[in-house]
Amino acid sequence: MAKSSRRTFMAVSAVAVTSGLAGPAEAAERRKPPADPQLRAMLREIDPHRIEAIIRRLVAFGTRHTLSTQDDPVRGIGAARDWIQAEFQRYAESSAGRMTVSLDSFIQPVSNRIPVPTRITNVVATLRGSLTPERVYVVTGHYDSRVTDVLDATSDAPGADDDASGVAVVLELARVMATRSPEATIVFAAVAAEEQGLYGSDHLAQTFKDRGTDVQAMFSNDIVGTGDAHDGTPGDPRTVRLFVEGVPTAETAAEANVRRSVGGENDGPSRQLGRFVGDVAGPEVTGMRVRQIWRRDRYLRGSDHISFLLRGYPAGRFTEPRENFNHEHQDVRVENGVQYGDLIEFCDFAYIARVARVNAAALWSLAQAPGTPKGVVIDTTQLTNETTLRWQPGPEPDLAGYELLWRETTAPDWTHSLPVGNVTTATIDLSKDNVFFALRAVDHDGNRSPAAAPQPSS
Ligand SMILES: [Zn+2]
Repeated sequence: MAKSSRRTFMAVSAVAVTSGLAGPAEAAERRKPPADPQLRAMLREIDPHRIEAIIRRLVAFGTRHTLSTQDDPVRGIGAARDWIQAEFQRYAESSAGRMTVSLDSFIQPVSNRIPVPTRITNVVATLRGSLTPERVYVVTGHYDSRVTDVLDATSDAPGADDDASGVAVVLELARVMATRSPEATIVFAAVAAEEQGLYGSDHLAQTFKDRGTDVQAMFSNDIVGTGDAHDGTPGDPRTVRLFVEGVPTAETAAEANVRRSVGGENDGPSRQLGRFVGDVAGPEVTGMRVRQIWRRDRYLRGSDHISFLLRGYPAGRFTEPRENFNHEHQDVRVENGVQYGDLIEFCDFAYIARVARVNAAALWSLAQAPGTPKGVVIDTTQLTNETTLRWQPGPEPDLAGYELLWRETTAPDWTHSLPVGNVTTATIDLSKDNVFFALRAVDHDGNRSPAAAPQPSS
């Protein structure tokens, strides 16, 4: 056994004795506001007035239906596409060449909700990482909109909440981050054809997959317009929901067998991502409570994160706490005194700015921390009451080392952490049968990666 592992073994003995103190101390650590002055500055720069202006502009295109006109300069999805591209381009000018803007464009053949071959275009701004550019984080909103009939391409479809609000989050993040230099790459995407069946994000995720891109997290912002359902119930303007699945959508049959045998249903990569966001983007940092919903999405609905989950990429969906379905996917009309339609008057721009701050804290913390550890295994070659983890060394030049995490099998979140140094194996005197383990990486500034749950060695 290596020397470093032996030292780790000794250290863990000490921590296990004082475990009653380790939990609360760690919780206090998490409640501190962000130490990173760049993040604090960005959170201040996120501007509700700019968010309002973006949503007003998007609504003014009349409809952004995927099947609407693409060559009218005033109305339709083509005009919206060109405007979003020009905005990204304007932000990129302040990036000293770090941000590039591109169109991910393709012809969707006739398919469900696509009655004629249709050009679908995602508008993408990429902010290249300074240290590990091959590591990528993606944030999206969808710029297409709809009314009651999903094939109605001509009626007014303002789509203020669904999803100009998400596009405004993405644009505002791109604006404030363009002047900064994150360590990993951040991709800001306004995707299309979400309402027709996630076609835009599906193409974007497949393009990443085909290129072998190491997407380590993705967030869809979809319906993030208000904390008030406008239905007479109390508002909840300081909460945003984050949907994160436990069992991976892309899980193979062999992986499912392992998961069932070890009880891994609460430790998929997206669930770990949710825990990470809870740690770095809470109320003390963003003024918002991130209410995690431990499922893939709402009943009957699905957003663009599913396109990434299908490719095995960790992903989640931000959405407002309580929806008013009279304001989604509806013809604009008044019926029996009730206003239907996705109108801008139901948006709360300060709320959307706070959702943007949650995204900023999550994305910046991901990009500045080391990547999620890879190749993490738990030694199962013999029956023993100790636990040995092994992993691949991370590529980050500012990597300081690793921390083991563990929790009771009934606990929702990690309760214990132990620094083990810059090593690739560690043995601790706790039984793997009795707790759940994970590993995270730490850099010299104390930035911590999302946790990676180990797979059994065989
Ligand atoms: Zn939507």
